[in-house]
Amino acid sequence: MAISEKMRGFAEKSSWIRKMFEEGARLKGQFGEENVFDFSLGNPDLPPPAKFYDVLAQQATDRTPGVHGYMTNNGYSWVREALAKRISVEQQVPVAAEDMLMTCGAAGGLNVVLKSLLNPGEEVIALAPYFVEYGFYVDNNGGVLKVVATDDSFDLDLDALYQAITEKTKAIIINSPNNPTGQVYSAEKLERLGALLYERGRHFGTTIYLLSDEPYRKIVFDGVTVPPVLAAYSNAIIVSSYSKDLSLPGERIGYLAVHPEIDEKAALLGAMNLATRILGFVNAPAMIQRVVAELQQETVAVEIYNRRRERFCAVLDTAGYQYLRPKGGFYFFPKAPNGDDVAFCGLLQEEKILAVPGRGFGAPGYFRLVFCVSEDIIERSGPAFVKAMEKARAIAG
Ligand code: PLP
Repeated sequence: MAISEKMRGFAEKSSWIRKMFEEGARLKGQFGEENVFDFSLGNPDLPPPAKFYDVLAQQATDRTPGVHGYMTNNGYSWVREALAKRISVEQQVPVAAEDMLMTCGAAGGLNVVLKSLLNPGEEVIALAPYFVEYGFYVDNNGGVLKVVATDDSFDLDLDALYQAITEKTKAIIINSPNNPTGQVYSAEKLERLGALLYERGRHFGTTIYLLSDEPYRKIVFDGVTVPPVLAAYSNAIIVSSYSKDLSLPGERIGYLAVHPEIDEKAALLGAMNLATRILGFVNAPAMIQRVVAELQQETVAVEIYNRRRERFCAVLDTAGYQYLRPKGGFYFFPKAPNGDDVAFCGLLQEEKILAVPGRGFGAPGYFRLVFCVSEDIIERSGPAFVKAMEKARAIAG
């Protein structure tokens, strides 16, 4: 076997979304694209804001010598400055260009931070349900992923976290708005989390870094705002991207911002610069850095996601599913009737609905639905959701 055992194991672990992708292709081939309700892939389908195309067109004609050349590993300083201004307002802490690093998406950013922080065997806590790639990123960089459950409403369970933190805990990853649950952590919860991390750090004589993975920050509903994480804890690092809020996932552009008073700041920033190189990214793509610098006040049409969310709530309510109304992001995470997520996703598939079992996110008993699909598909899927529920009830007797 040519590939490593580890990679084979990982392929198996990440197989739920791949399986759905393959099943989707098969069903679409058999019944036609429009007759399959594919809610499995979180690939933003809204166009980027109109201004994106104007700025991109301008940048494409720039013939200044060196404009496509290498740069410092952390990205253009003027781009970081433009982002730092917005982030300082968002985070209610004065972030400077020097506190930032441009990255290849949030995924690239997380790898850069973890490479900079982790000694072999140190632990990184993720909160289930969680974005499954975290496990791969932690492993890439020599760490060990420790999964801690959230509470009944997928909110932070601070007692469980307290129990899980040890002297080996190097970092905790939070993700709010959350993929897959749509939960947004409150300012009060973040304050308490910050207090807990200071206390546990003092107790063990360590620094526990808080990584806030927040690419969905601007995709929120019902007047919800995402509270600032840097204001709640000084050993925090923001990791984000323009994959979701500008619908640019293929352009691989994101950023890191550290708290201005983070422990060992100079060493950490130096390590992150080097990690960007070592990981082979070298620097975030040049042209798209220049483009996003001018789009700091822009966001995709969140009201379209909101309308889809409303339609989806109506579909799920009519069919009798239990779920929490997502506060942000573009996912639902309903309970699997009868409790078996894999069996229920099988029933959904019989009705040509593609969903991902919750165990793919470390949370069996639930399933994930994505609303990066047209309102028409959501609307038309209604009877299929009803049928799947009827079948589940019949099986339960
Ligand atoms: N974090 C979460 C929670 C995500 O859902 C995703 C992508 O779906 C990422 C990180 C990676 O995003 P990016 O495209 O910015 O690397």
